[in-house]
Amino acid sequence: MSKLIERLIRPEIQALAAYHVPDASGLIKLDAMENPYGWPAGLRRQWLEALQEVRLNRYPDPHGTEIQSALREFMDIPDGKGLLLGNGSDELIQMLALAVAQPGARILSVEPGFVMYRMIALFAGMAYVGVRLRAEDFSLDLSSVLAAMEKEQPAVVFLAYPNNPTGNLFDADAVARVIEAAPGLVVIDEAYAPFTDRSFMPRLGDWPNLMIMRTVSKMGLAGLRLGYLTGPSDWLAEIDKARLPYNINVLTQASTAFALRHRDVLDEQTRRIREERSRLYDELSGLDGIHPYPSEANFVLVRMPDGRAREIFESMKRAGVLVKNLDGAHPLLDDCLRVTVGRPEENAAFLAALESSL
Ligand SMILES: *Cc1c(COP(=O)(O)O)cnc(C)c1O
Repeated sequence: MSKLIERLIRPEIQALAAYHVPDASGLIKLDAMENPYGWPAGLRRQWLEALQEVRLNRYPDPHGTEIQSALREFMDIPDGKGLLLGNGSDELIQMLALAVAQPGARILSVEPGFVMYRMIALFAGMAYVGVRLRAEDFSLDLSSVLAAMEKEQPAVVFLAYPNNPTGNLFDADAVARVIEAAPGLVVIDEAYAPFTDRSFMPRLGDWPNLMIMRTVSKMGLAGLRLGYLTGPSDWLAEIDKARLPYNINVLTQASTAFALRHRDVLDEQTRRIREERSRLYDELSGLDGIHPYPSEANFVLVRMPDGRAREIFESMKRAGVLVKNLDGAHPLLDDCLRVTVGRPEENAAFLAALESSL
């Protein structure tokens, strides 16, 4: 590496591998928690008509007023709460980190968990504390979390509910204890809200330090990049200052507003995904030598026989099915693959590829 790069780039950035997105061309794509369904032709035509009104020569509405009101109408956001939009929820995590990144400030989450909490802490120059989940069932180890919060005094705690990549919901009373005991903000990340009946949204306002973050990605609009953060407006007004102007582009604003007006289509798709999830889980449970974990999200984490995850992952890929290999990502994920719930025929192809790889 050139001496200048070595001198100027922060060592912790040099030490990173760039976020790797594998090439999925020609493969059945079950690696990224995408909704596998498209829109009916009539709806696509209406959407294209709506896009004709979009003026690409103008900057976007800086506050995304139309999506804000659509989200308030359709996403059960309690009245009077603040709402902040991000270019995906990833950008909201980044805004939060940038807003609190004073020397010594920390972010805390659980492991194995969503990797962006740790990555963004690093980008923002913050320390990150990862508290282990319980090995048996990936449940929250409440006393460890409480002890770590006491010791590290994190500015922000992130908990994904359901958790990625494990798919489970943490015990709601344990989460409530974390919110109560936290010395700073607690963000409940409900990226998978469309796939579970549980949510902390009705309890927003019960604690002054609770925020809820969601995204339209997993419900079927991953390409638009839109996440939202809701909570106390005085907090959100500060975090909003770390937002780049015009962060939600005009096409995303128009398309999200349109999609939310036709939410029944997305709801029907997520309902089918939930049905397929239980079918897929049952089928996986019937296979010898592997262990699927119960999921409240649109994916299933599956433990492969000892030491065979990589080989099975590669063999399924050769058979045309791409899943996510998590072996090596965290000690508790040894031998684990994660499969996104796809269309029935995709799930059948996955199961066939898995069985022959086993
Ligand atoms: C996928 C995911 C996100 C990221 O969502 P985007 O809005 O697409 O950036 C956030 N949190 C969790 C837990 C996720 O799994």
